Amino acid sequence: MENSTSVQKNGTSEFDVIVVGGGHNGLVAAGYLAKAGRKVLVLEKRPIVGGAAVTEEFFPGFKFSSLADGSGSLSPKVASDLKLSEHGLQILPADPLIVSLLDDGKNLTLWHDTDRTVQEIAKFSAADAQTYPRFIERMEKISRIVAEMNYLVPPDVPDLGFTDLTNFTGFISPVRNLGWRHISQVVRLLPMSVADLLSEWFESEYVIGAIAASAILNTSFGPQEINSTAYAFLQNWSLSNNGLFRSSGQVKGGMGALTQALADAARSMGASILTETEVSTIDYQDGKVTGVTLADGDRYLSKNVVSAADMRTTFLKLIDPYYLDAKFVESVRKIIYRGTSARMHFALDRLPTFSGIDGDSQRLSGHVQIAPTIEYLQKASDAAKFGNHSKQPYLDIQIPTLTDSSLAPAGKHILSATVKYMPYTLREGNWEELRETIGGLVVDTLSAYAPDFKECILHEKLMTPLEIEQGYTLPEGSPVHGDMALNQFMWMRPIPGYAQYRGPIDGLYMCSAATHPGGGVTGINGKNAAQQVLSD
Ligand SMILES: Cc1cc2nc3c(=O)[nH]c(=O)nc-3n(C[C@H](O)[C@H](O)[C@H](O)COP(=O)(O)OP(=O)(O)OC[C@H]3O[C@@H](n4cnc5c(N)ncnc54)[C@H](O)[C@@H]3O)c2cc1C
Repeated sequence: MENSTSVQKNGTSEFDVIVVGGGHNGLVAAGYLAKAGRKVLVLEKRPIVGGAAVTEEFFPGFKFSSLADGSGSLSPKVASDLKLSEHGLQILPADPLIVSLLDDGKNLTLWHDTDRTVQEIAKFSAADAQTYPRFIERMEKISRIVAEMNYLVPPDVPDLGFTDLTNFTGFISPVRNLGWRHISQVVRLLPMSVADLLSEWFESEYVIGAIAASAILNTSFGPQEINSTAYAFLQNWSLSNNGLFRSSGQVKGGMGALTQALADAARSMGASILTETEVSTIDYQDGKVTGVTLADGDRYLSKNVVSAADMRTTFLKLIDPYYLDAKFVESVRKIIYRGTSARMHFALDRLPTFSGIDGDSQRLSGHVQIAPTIEYLQKASDAAKFGNHSKQPYLDIQIPTLTDSSLAPAGKHILSATVKYMPYTLREGNWEELRETIGGLVVDTLSAYAPDFKECILHEKLMTPLEIEQGYTLPEGSPVHGDMALNQFMWMRPIPGYAQYRGPIDGLYMCSAATHPGGGVTGINGKNAAQQVLSD
């Protein structure tokens, strides 16, 4: 158990704010609240803080970013406000942004540098090479608007009162500042599919596939589907740290080093953090929060509780929904999670030889994608729509040891892949029965691009959507506490009427990825929620 001498149990300790869950958003909220002088206690049920952003040593000497592995969405504002570099956070740059592996040993590499990318794209289409710089410039401009909105508290749209009307005007002001021509472009673009959006700009199926893949990482939808994918594309862009559609960079020590830095920062400002401490109820009386009770029966008192856990856990488990407003509970029950990702980790004896890469290992140091075309991606997602696993999965791969050799013994490597589409709810069979099939499928898919892959494997670990749910409290394995879809964004996130980070009980707040601006290791949700607590 981590920390803290100042924490006494059995209801004797009272705090200004208790944070339930030590995921990165909970830690960010704790950091801001402690910085503002509040007495804060964070309670995390796992043995380590970090939630979905952790480093774990699955095999001796091999350290993996268990779930999230891309650090590039962390809000620069949060990093500087909480002085994370002073607490050990080190982000290692990675270039290229993406290498998309194609058949016959070909690949399409997208670098950070536009001119270099243009040269690569020209191998596939001269017209697309010409278009790419204009595309980046135009979309970057629009994504900056979304970026501004990420930091704003969404208005209470269904019950729009006078104050909310003012808030609403404020909320959309970044869009208004764009000018009419761009506003209509944004409105037109939001409900589109990312495939349609990109087809308006590019002709090569490989260019479109390579760019589209990042849009669907955090949604259950395929790239040809509306209701989320163009929006998710822009949202990812708005959160990336490099002006491009996908974030980049790697945390030295894996993602857990980021959340350890957050915990260290929060502690340095006076917050107490307890791990292996599961909250079993959030307590309240006469409509006001009074504290929490732990699974072991101990209690901590506070008039303010910030839940950094997902909505299902918070309102259907930690609070008896019987006592909550029926309409509110119904909305919580209706949140769509629909996880479609598995994760697979490999400890490797040596770096596999990827066809066509020919010893140029730098090319493999960013995101490595097996997502050649829209057709490939859409077919992969179509399977999951009907409860089947994809037979030709989309793999989003990183080989972090190419950038950070401290993650494995000398000369060895690790490779981790997010594997889509693997539906949480299976039409037939169960995840235990499918384990071997999926593990073999991932190995075979990789072997098609790196023929010696199998020979390099020392150890492997598959995490199914069910295990992701059970091990990390992510409902239905949803990476973002609720699908990133148009009906679950901005003032509808987590549910309409509750997008201001306040729960239905006085003193109860929400700050996880379930809230605006959604998932990803950004810290923005935690920051926004802390500001609401402080303003109240
Ligand atoms: C496979 C996968 C890959 C991903 N890849 C990326 C990526 O590359 N880049 C990126 O930016 N994002 C990625 N994400 C998304 C990102 O990891 C999440 O959106 C983000 O980490 C959510 O953070 P959070 O703090 O809101 O919630 P969480 O990290 O889920 O934290 C919630 C915490 O609450 C704790 N908790 C729950 N119930 C209780 C209780 N009763 N008592 C005490 N504690 C409790 C949990 O243990 C957990 O620590 C990925 C997610 C997955 C699943």
